[in-house]
Amino acid sequence: MPPACDTISTVTCSFEQARAAVLKEARARRKLPAIETIPSLEAAGRILAEDISTDRDYPPFPRSARDGFAVRAADLPGEFQIIGEVRAGSVFSGTVGPRQTVEIMTGAPLPAGADAVVMVEHTTRDGESMRTDRTHQSGDNFNPRGVEAKQGTVVLTRGCRLGFSEIALLATVGYTQVGVYKKPRVAILPTGDEIVTVAETPEPFQIRNSNAWSMAVQAARAGAEPVILPIARDNYESTYALVKEGLECDMLMLSGGVSAGKYDIVEKVLADFGAEFFFTRALIQPGQPVVFGHAQNKLFFGLPGNPASTMVTLEIFARAAIELLSGLDEPLLPLLQARLSREFKQKTGLTRFLPARISEDGATVEPLGWQGSGDVAALSRSNAFLVSEPDREHWAAGEMIRVLLK
Ligand code: AMP
Ligand code: MG
Repeated sequence: MPPACDTISTVTCSFEQARAAVLKEARARRKLPAIETIPSLEAAGRILAEDISTDRDYPPFPRSARDGFAVRAADLPGEFQIIGEVRAGSVFSGTVGPRQTVEIMTGAPLPAGADAVVMVEHTTRDGESMRTDRTHQSGDNFNPRGVEAKQGTVVLTRGCRLGFSEIALLATVGYTQVGVYKKPRVAILPTGDEIVTVAETPEPFQIRNSNAWSMAVQAARAGAEPVILPIARDNYESTYALVKEGLECDMLMLSGGVSAGKYDIVEKVLADFGAEFFFTRALIQPGQPVVFGHAQNKLFFGLPGNPASTMVTLEIFARAAIELLSGLDEPLLPLLQARLSREFKQKTGLTRFLPARISEDGATVEPLGWQGSGDVAALSRSNAFLVSEPDREHWAAGEMIRVLLK
């Protein structure tokens, strides 16, 4: 067993500096995962690993945007002879001549000769004739062939996450299968002598291992395959053996053991694996003792063990690293602004991420009462985090404040 290194210098960062370090280091050090081909309908949430191009022009024909009458715009206004009808899924074989019109439905191809559509609401019909007092420009009320995308245009670029609109686009251009990145394996390593597995009956002084579950869910949501390791005990041998195992995955996330306590030995163990630490403290609350570095070519995070600290630091830092490792090109932290429902005060110095409820319309945010970083129940009543600026003491009710969606 290598000797423990007991001098690890503290590297303190602001929230912004810490986030920037995560993005920079994870981007620079990532090796993109291998590619697998899967059915497109099963690819929701996955990261696209190939560029997707159109197989033909979109729309593939000049497509009416309205129910109405296809005309030559130059003939408007006046009376027109109705020479036929065209509906979605069919074509009109003739040509629209001077003062002629074809009745047309939304989604139908514009007949040859016509260059505009008059909405049915703006016409009156009498047998085989149509009258309108409207005028139109050539091109009104239909989408010309190829305006959305010409054949061969890249419409989805590798490195994006596939959501419902991207999967609809795969369907549109005929991709039944799609190449996506394989999920990176992210090791989850809980630490603590007081921690027992969820299935055990805890003694009064013991705590169930909730962090492994929140971390697994957050890691999976970010795009990883979580690998939950056994609980490391607060001694060198146990932690060393499990860190070694964790570093065999693509990334390692620990919970607990990174504070200043006598038995907080995670950093010592990591240092003995040759770790370089990018930061060991961030000016945030909860989660101040958060650690980020790399060892043996793997990124690791030492997340503080208090459940709220673990969840917040994973969400604001580790998640971006997982996303980059998963192949995503642009991790996003969804910070918005909302109006405070009541006054908010804090001591300056830290960027705070506090449980809050944002209203259904996203306009108002209410800070929730909580008992500190161990209060999982308060977090579960929240649907967002209120995010303060570190240099400000007071916000009056009605003022705007930042909000991070959960
Ligand atoms: P630590 O960061 O190791 O000092 O732990 C801080 C607090 O978080 C302690 O009260 C721990 O009991 C609690 N804690 C640590 N690990 C976990 C875990 N895996 N699940 C739930 N709570 C934990
Ligand atoms: Mg501990």
